Amino acid sequence: MQLFLCLSQHVLSGVLTENTHTAIFRRTSTFTALNFVSMAQPTPYSGFVQQMPKLNNEFTDDAFLQDYLRTYFPTDSLKEITPDLEQFGKRTAGEFMDWARDAEVNKPQLIQFDAWGNRIDEIKVSQGWLNLEKVAAEDGLVAIGYERKYGEHSRLYQFVKLYLYTASSAIYTCPLAMTDGAARLIEVYGNDFLKREVFTGLTSRNPQQFKTSGQWMTERTGGSDVSRSMTFAMPDGEDYILSGHKWFTSAITANVAFTLASTEQPEAGKRAPLSLFYLPIRHADGKLNGIEVEALKDKLGTRALPTAQLLLTGAKAKMVGEKGKGVRTIATLFNITRIYNTISAVSYLRRAYSLSKAYSAMREAFGQKIENHTLHRKTLREMEMAYQGNALFAFFVSRLLGKEECNTATESEKELLRFLTPVAKLYTAKQSIKYASEHIEVFGGIGYLEDSGIPVMLRDVQTLSIWEGTTNVLSLDMLRAAEKENGLQAFYAFTQEIFSKAQLAETQQLKNSLQKKANVFFAFAKSLQSAEERIASSRDMAFYVAELTIALLWLDFLQTNYATGNYAATLQYLLRYTMNEEILHTAKELGLV
Ligand SMILES: Cc1cc2nc3c(=O)[nH]c(=O)nc-3n(C[C@H](O)[C@H](O)[C@H](O)COP(=O)(O)OP(=O)(O)OC[C@H]3O[C@@H](n4cnc5c(N)ncnc54)[C@H](O)[C@@H]3O)c2cc1C
Repeated sequence: MQLFLCLSQHVLSGVLTENTHTAIFRRTSTFTALNFVSMAQPTPYSGFVQQMPKLNNEFTDDAFLQDYLRTYFPTDSLKEITPDLEQFGKRTAGEFMDWARDAEVNKPQLIQFDAWGNRIDEIKVSQGWLNLEKVAAEDGLVAIGYERKYGEHSRLYQFVKLYLYTASSAIYTCPLAMTDGAARLIEVYGNDFLKREVFTGLTSRNPQQFKTSGQWMTERTGGSDVSRSMTFAMPDGEDYILSGHKWFTSAITANVAFTLASTEQPEAGKRAPLSLFYLPIRHADGKLNGIEVEALKDKLGTRALPTAQLLLTGAKAKMVGEKGKGVRTIATLFNITRIYNTISAVSYLRRAYSLSKAYSAMREAFGQKIENHTLHRKTLREMEMAYQGNALFAFFVSRLLGKEECNTATESEKELLRFLTPVAKLYTAKQSIKYASEHIEVFGGIGYLEDSGIPVMLRDVQTLSIWEGTTNVLSLDMLRAAEKENGLQAFYAFTQEIFSKAQLAETQQLKNSLQKKANVFFAFAKSLQSAEERIASSRDMAFYVAELTIALLWLDFLQTNYATGNYAATLQYLLRYTMNEEILHTAKELGLV
């Protein structure tokens, strides 16, 4: 019995790092050996125990990522950052996974009162979660984007590290996303106080000085539509006092927050004129700044992340940006978090593939390793294409962001970034859910077992399509960018630029096919006459735009990489890749009007 408990504890602590792997394997052998003593061996397989896969260095193992960086990152700078990525990739496949498992198992706790009855609202988190925060600061996971050592390429470097980190971080990426978004918000709209007192902490590499930010928008009345806000901001000298309620506030362990509130009592049925506010969450003495933590949410996934619901009972805050323009101002923040969401989805896609691949090399069925079954190989190939294609999309958006922030983007590139950000977020999120599910299936029954640690990913990625904008809300946002911010023209210019650069003979067939697919899209967009038709088609159009963009980015990537000989099968896959033109329908065809 004691031996069994011992085994269970090790399994619970995570299956996949080198140390744990060895530990489990040793104990398992002892366990089966004991059984052999007491029973006869009925078949040659009676002692069989399935071995678990383990990850190697997540950077050096990812040949596609290295090809990508060789193609799009300046050579000298790449030499400089490679040792950092190598050490980081080793850790994401090692100790980070143990910390993430610790954070997942030892969920955050809310302690509302101390022994004497004082209201304290303390949030206790695991050591694993604290370690993941410390390493995020030390490794510059936010800082790299603001140090800008590699100019417009700094964002790509930063997001490659986040891509390595996220799937081993128990989604500590969530607080980092909001912290990064807050830093950008301060760069664009912040006054001297915010730049001096807050920005430095948000972008620090020193774990003692590193500060994180929350983003409190969602209320009981709505997250997509925040206009029925019940948070009121009363002037208090140069500051404001906020009272109201916030329904979802993630990483309530943050130091500061940006939130929305109305400076005027809204009339029932009318939109509240919302402004944006900055507030420290606790005072210097550790007491909360006019905030009560009502509860921590009991969530399907992201269990290591403390998400609270809050009562604002008089929180002292400062207005940021123009009065009444809060939603527009905070968009700067959530456009960054949407890109983080995209990178996170791709990180999980990569992890789903690498674990599935490793397991397929170990598991046997019907007389051979499952990786040798043609149909299983096809499944793995699909997963590989999904992670690589989505990575092309995510890294492209990261590069556009880097250009915008370093003032090297053209107007058309800025418009393209605005147009593609919601599309990248919604598409990669849905893909991560699809392949997190496939990855469970690759592990068969074991994949469904909680103590294998495998189901965590599926639970976690489900939130990627909800927070920072649901699929429908983002489709409508893409439509807004297309109609009001020149997004469609910018997308057209992008397609033409890729086509004009694609001169490699071997890729001409792919280019011709994509030209047709692009024409279908632009003709369809033009054919939509009414607002209702455009709204009804926006989600299908967003998926089409995503798949077209990925195919175009492959075309561009192949111009440099086809000659290596490693992507011949990729080209064949892309040629047979059926971007379904049938998905584009008008509201009338769908019977919606
Ligand atoms: C784990 C987790 C952590 C979170 N952390 C935070 C946080 O830190 N800060 C924060 O502010 N929020 C946070 N949220 C809340 C999240 O941002 C919202 O749940 C999300 O924006 C959706 O809002 P809602 O829940 O009000 O859904 P609703 O807006 O009510 O949406 C319900 C459904 O209606 C659809 N819908 C809505 N409007 C339209 C429309 N115009 N056309 C078509 N369909 C529409 C949506 O697509 C969705 O399917 C978190 C949520 C989760 C799950």
